Amino acid sequence: MTTIAFVGLGHMGRPMAANLVSAGFTVRGFDLVPELCEAARATGVEIADSAANAASGADIVVTMLPAGKHVLAAYEGGDGPGLLAAARPGTLFLDCSTIAVDEARAAAELAVAAGHRPLDAPVSGGVVGAEKGTLAFMVGGETADFEAAMPALEAMGGRIVHCGGAGLGQAAKVCNNMILGISQIAVAEAFVLGERLGLSHQALFDVASNASGQCWALTTNCPVPGPVPASPANNDYEPGFAGALMAKDLGLAEQMIALTGVDAQLGLLAQRLYADFAAGEGAGKDFSGIINSIRAESTA
Ligand code: NAD
Repeated sequence: MTTIAFVGLGHMGRPMAANLVSAGFTVRGFDLVPELCEAARATGVEIADSAANAASGADIVVTMLPAGKHVLAAYEGGDGPGLLAAARPGTLFLDCSTIAVDEARAAAELAVAAGHRPLDAPVSGGVVGAEKGTLAFMVGGETADFEAAMPALEAMGGRIVHCGGAGLGQAAKVCNNMILGISQIAVAEAFVLGERLGLSHQALFDVASNASGQCWALTTNCPVPGPVPASPANNDYEPGFAGALMAKDLGLAEQMIALTGVDAQLGLLAQRLYADFAAGEGAGKDFSGIINSIRAESTA
């Protein structure tokens, strides 16, 4: 029986851990928030009294934490032992958090130095994908380790892609979300321009969704109510994918653009626009709600 330590039982981690339980794994979880531990216990997760105790003796250690600093701190430990020291040598370390590529590579180096087998495995698909077990996984690390992690990944995900060596799962995630952030703004600007020109939302949608403007930001996450009934715009921009998370992910893109020197002007501009959006009420709204900022900033 494979035992999986699951550290970070928040919005994403709790349903992911529950799916591992449903697939027959023994799951030992831990979160700093006791209420979240209790909620996970109700889904069949055994609760450890520390992250290190969850990892001790486990075959796989999954982390689903807010940001890179949390992952590195959990790996290395502080007052008590970290996950790397607590786990037995040869343990698979599967970090599913969204963190910077250089942080993922640093985490992988630490794990290898401690005798473990690291994979960076960020996800897309949001809380709904986590609940349904249909997350897309983008994985970086050694092929043999990727294959060893496959049963656990399949219990939590639908589409699973091995992107290359350490950090390249995070690289795929940051590049995809940069496309997404930019294209959502492009679609929103086009709808506001269409409004000013007297074009109905439906007419623009009917043309662009069947023409070269077609993209996910238009056909699934349409930023105006009506043309795509399930899009967050029809529900006062309830997420969906919150503006704060898009701002975080584009902040990672900004870091990677600076690190590589790429002339990614639209990526940097999108980062600034989402940071402004998330500084206000956009933090908790779906990121397609940026259309309201565009309307508000447009001259009368
Ligand atoms: P969350 O804040 O709900 O959950 C993170 C959990 O980690 C919290 O419950 C927190 O208490 C816990 N935690 C922090 N430090 C810890 C430690 N040392 N030990 C144990 N627990 C600790 O965040 P989330 O929405 O579940 O997202 C997790 C990660 O997944 C983030 O990196 C996020 O960017 C990424 N992500 C989120 C979504 C989404 O839609 N929410 C989608 C894709 C990717």
